[in-house]
Amino acid sequence: MNRRDFLVGGSAVFGASVLSSFSGCSKSQFEDKNIITANNSSKVKFKLATSWPKHFPIMGEAVLKFAERVREISSGYIDIQVFGKDELLPALAVFDGASTGAIDVFHSGPYYWKGKSLSISIFGGVPFGMTPDEGLSWFKYGGGIDLWREIYDRYNLYPMLGGNTGPQMGGWFRKEIKSKADLKGLKMRIPGLAGELFARLGVNPILLSAGDIFTALERGTIDATEWVGPALDIKMGFHKVANYYYSGWTEPGSILELTFNKNSWNKLSNEQKLMIELVAHKMNTNMLFEFQSENSKALELLAQENKNIKIGNFPDEVTEFAREENKKLMAELSEKDKEFERVYKSYNDFQRINSKWSDLSMRNYLNSRG
Ligand code: CA
Repeated sequence: MNRRDFLVGGSAVFGASVLSSFSGCSKSQFEDKNIITANNSSKVKFKLATSWPKHFPIMGEAVLKFAERVREISSGYIDIQVFGKDELLPALAVFDGASTGAIDVFHSGPYYWKGKSLSISIFGGVPFGMTPDEGLSWFKYGGGIDLWREIYDRYNLYPMLGGNTGPQMGGWFRKEIKSKADLKGLKMRIPGLAGELFARLGVNPILLSAGDIFTALERGTIDATEWVGPALDIKMGFHKVANYYYSGWTEPGSILELTFNKNSWNKLSNEQKLMIELVAHKMNTNMLFEFQSENSKALELLAQENKNIKIGNFPDEVTEFAREENKKLMAELSEKDKEFERVYKSYNDFQRINSKWSDLSMRNYLNSRG
């Protein structure tokens, strides 16, 4: 049903009783007003490219659902065509694609764009950084979204939150990590700021595309890999070739983005912008819930069906070493790059204050719950 049918249909349903009670308002006047409102929004056709395959579990499916819901809520007036990775652009070409206007919008993750500005990686998430709740609070109530939009403005882009992976795992290792010495010389697939941190711990970070990771781990070309969490990791089959699965501290709640070319965004009516924002908000929160649910189910499955797999924390010695090295890494990057310094200061100040409340409330609660 398109918008016009809905509105006209609505007045038809209520017509007999409601319209007769309006003095001086005939049925035809009522309908005309609705038709004019519907026609105030012109039809929009947008091209959206993602960094994931079209039907990639959770993230890819969420984008398809987003486009479908926008079409529905706008009664077909906003038609967003979704292109998966490589259908229109390679995964990492979507930022430039939207910046130049070759596409209208993309779905990806800010941590891919540190080559544009080092500071952008902070919007994706920071090792030993904020939990999903804390991080989303920073965007909405701590100035994060304003900083993000200010920086993207230089690229003619307008970003909004487009999902969250929830806490990610530290990764799959072929050998047990008993001490920080065991990390020395390990070859690990790990990108971004997390890769820089692991390099400081003695690991050789390796970049591999998704399709090559399993074979590399199986053959021992790499000794370890991180990916996301149980829900997506189990589909990659890493549990068949590595026995040690550690929880992590590099990606405590990674942000995904839905980013528009500014000209495309600005040609929308206020009503259309609001519809897109509402549906994007739904995608953003829903993805976090979906990861929570799917990770839990997959963890249960992993633990039950693979008794040989050891699932747990890195030794305290490793975590403490990593925490200290991360502080030095953030200080060095802040020294090197003034924009990184400014964004990280905003992020870190917010984290410092928020962690006091999170410790008092959530940390104590989880410890008490047992
Ligand atoms: Ca990851």
